[in-house]
Amino acid sequence: MERVVNFSAGPSVLPVPVLEKAAKEMVCYPGAGMGVMEMSHRSKVYEEIINGAEALLRELMNVPDNYKILFLQGGASLQFSMIPINLFKNKKADYTDTGEWAARAIKEAKKYGEINVVASSADKTYSYIPKFDKSKFDPEADYFHFTMNNTIFGTRYKELPDTGNIPLVTDMSSCILSEVYDVSNFGLIYAGAQKNIGPAGVTVVIIREDLLGNAPALCPAMMDYAIHAKNGSMYNTPPTYGIYLAKLVFEWLKEQGGVPAMQKINEEKAALLYDYLDNSKMFRGTVEKEDRSLMNIPFVTDSEELNNKFVKEAEKAGFVNLKGHRSVGGMRASIYNAMPREGILKLVDFMKDFEVNNK
Ligand SMILES: *Cc1c(COP(=O)(O)O)cnc(C)c1O
Repeated sequence: MERVVNFSAGPSVLPVPVLEKAAKEMVCYPGAGMGVMEMSHRSKVYEEIINGAEALLRELMNVPDNYKILFLQGGASLQFSMIPINLFKNKKADYTDTGEWAARAIKEAKKYGEINVVASSADKTYSYIPKFDKSKFDPEADYFHFTMNNTIFGTRYKELPDTGNIPLVTDMSSCILSEVYDVSNFGLIYAGAQKNIGPAGVTVVIIREDLLGNAPALCPAMMDYAIHAKNGSMYNTPPTYGIYLAKLVFEWLKEQGGVPAMQKINEEKAALLYDYLDNSKMFRGTVEKEDRSLMNIPFVTDSEELNNKFVKEAEKAGFVNLKGHRSVGGMRASIYNAMPREGILKLVDFMKDFEVNNK
């Protein structure tokens, strides 16, 4: 069977060379006489894999020395709890509400302290990034949390809020490694792996060292950043195979020219689809132009019936997972790093034909 063009929002498409290399090494990792899934995480071979993954990510994102990189489990969703539990001192934090994941982060954090929602775009189905009013920021907040790229609604932050000394904490699940970010601007960055890093089951946390070590006594050991940092993400058995695949993806990304080169490709890829949407008489994007995501592109026609017909015919033609999230409707194309340019070119051609045939 041929591979389809997979626009899944997550877990999502992985680079074919990565899958092929993993397949080749699955039964017998070079020099080990066994597969990565079968090895002890304490073995010398595996140590090289996890250290290699960390070093590559540090290089790709230019992570400064005073930041730890952690490979954890529990998805981005567990970070919604770990962040307040670990970072609260005053038990106060500022959050922006820009989509379903942001709202879930707020809901979870509220269990542990006073959450001040400083900006929201809920009034227009999260179709834009709300402007900041600094007078609403709490000077006693322990941190400021926002979602860098809103996977479901297709918006992204292009500028960071100015919070002075208050650490920025951001959910980069659907945009990490897609464009250049200056890690030194953040206190903590987290991302579930299953969009731009690898398979589900790994969560990456990049945390500034001075934020470690404040967890309360009741914090479970597995949720204490300091314990994971002290043990090099090996306090318990890490998701060994997922970290290995992440390493292969990092190697692939480096071969593409690293994040700056990938950003350029991503900008071109997104422009192909946005330009078509802006000129189409049938399809249109759903979010404010200046806030458009490079990774997730929701679009609609004016008729629910036509949306359904499009999704169905696209699937038959090999373009899968284009149905939009239930909260937006219509369609959504997720075009992460591993989505090749040709995938989008083919989709646009298909949309043009569909438009002509359904006038
Ligand atoms: C997918 C996603 C999540 C949820 O990730 P899990 O790993 O399933 O917990 C959270 N935030 C954003 C921005 C996402 O895209």
